Amino acid sequence: MSIDYDPQKFYDELVAAGHIYPVGVQGAFGRGPVFERIVDRFNDLVSEIARNDGAETRTYPPVVSRKVIEKNNYLESFPHLCGTVFSFFGKELEGREMARKAAQGETWSEHLKVTDLCLTPAICYPLYPTLKGKLPPGGGLYSLLGWAYRHEPSTEPTRMQSFRMREFIRAGTADQVVEWRDMWLQRGLELLRSLGLNANSDVAADPFFGRGGKMMAQNQREQRLKFEVLIPVISAENPTACCSFNFHQDHFGSKWEIQTADGEVANTACLGFGLERIAMALFKTHGCNVEQWPADVRRRLSI
Ligand code: ATP
Ligand code: MG
Repeated sequence: MSIDYDPQKFYDELVAAGHIYPVGVQGAFGRGPVFERIVDRFNDLVSEIARNDGAETRTYPPVVSRKVIEKNNYLESFPHLCGTVFSFFGKELEGREMARKAAQGETWSEHLKVTDLCLTPAICYPLYPTLKGKLPPGGGLYSLLGWAYRHEPSTEPTRMQSFRMREFIRAGTADQVVEWRDMWLQRGLELLRSLGLNANSDVAADPFFGRGGKMMAQNQREQRLKFEVLIPVISAENPTACCSFNFHQDHFGSKWEIQTADGEVANTACLGFGLERIAMALFKTHGCNVEQWPADVRRRLSI
C-alpha cells in the first residue's frame, strides 16, 4: 500500500477522526481519547522495560529552575526554542492597566517580569543537578516522563510546541554510557518495528542557533554524539525523529559535579521517545481507525 505524504491532509484527517483538537495556536492542540490511549499504552511498554532494567523513576513538573537553563548554557545553543515564565508582580493600579490593555488587544507584556522558572525544554534537565556527588558503582539509570516546551510553531503536525517525552538517562563511565546507548539504539528500533513501523536509525545533530551553531552541529555529527530513530510520518524523504539518543560525554558531569564511584567526572547519555510522534507514526502507518490496525499491533498495545 502506498502512503500519501501531505502534512495538511494528515492534520485534517487527525482532526476529523477526533484524535486532535485545534486550539488556535500551532503545535498546541488537544488530544482525543484514542490518541491518549495509544500514548499511555506505548508508555506502559517502556515502563515495563524500565522496571526490568531497574531504572529509578522520577516525575518533574513541566517547569525547570531558570538557574538550570542558565548554567546549562541553553540560551547560547537554543535561544530560539526557549520558553521563560514571566509573571505580574505589580500593584492594583498597574494590574488594572494591564487587564485593560489585554482586553483591548494591546500589548501588555511590559507589565511582566521574569520569574525563577522556565518551561522544560528537555525532560532530563531537572535531573542533573540532583545527581551531584558519587554515583553507585554500576552508575545510575533514571526513567522520566514529562511535558516539554519548545518554541517551534509549525503547520507540520509532528512539530509541536508542547509534547511529551519519555526519557532514560544513563550516568557512569564513558564505556558504561556508550554501551548502554548502543544497546538502546538497537532496542528502540526493535520496539518501534514491533509495532509495524518503518523505523531506521541515523546520525543526527541538534538545531543549534546561528552561525556558531552550524559548527556545533557539524562537530556533533562528526563525533557521532546524536542518533535518531526515524519513521516516515509526513514525508518519505525526510522521516520524523521519534526517538533521539544524545551522548553528552562529561558535559553535564563536570557542570553539575557528578562523579563515578571511582571519583572520576561522570559521562551521561539520554534517550527520549517523542510520545505524540509515535502515536502519529502509528496513525500514518496503520490508518486513523485503530479497529482496522493489524491484529498483532493491537495486541502488543492492548488496544
Ligand atoms: P527534531 O530533529 O525533529 O527537532 P530532536 O532531535 O531535536 O527532534 P530531541 O531534542 O532529541 O529531538 O527530543 C527527543 C524526542 O522528542 C525526539 O526524538 C522527538 O520524538 C521528540 N520531539 C522533539 N521535538 C519535538 C516537537 N517539536 N514536537 C513533538 N515531538 C518532538
Ligand atoms: Mg528539535
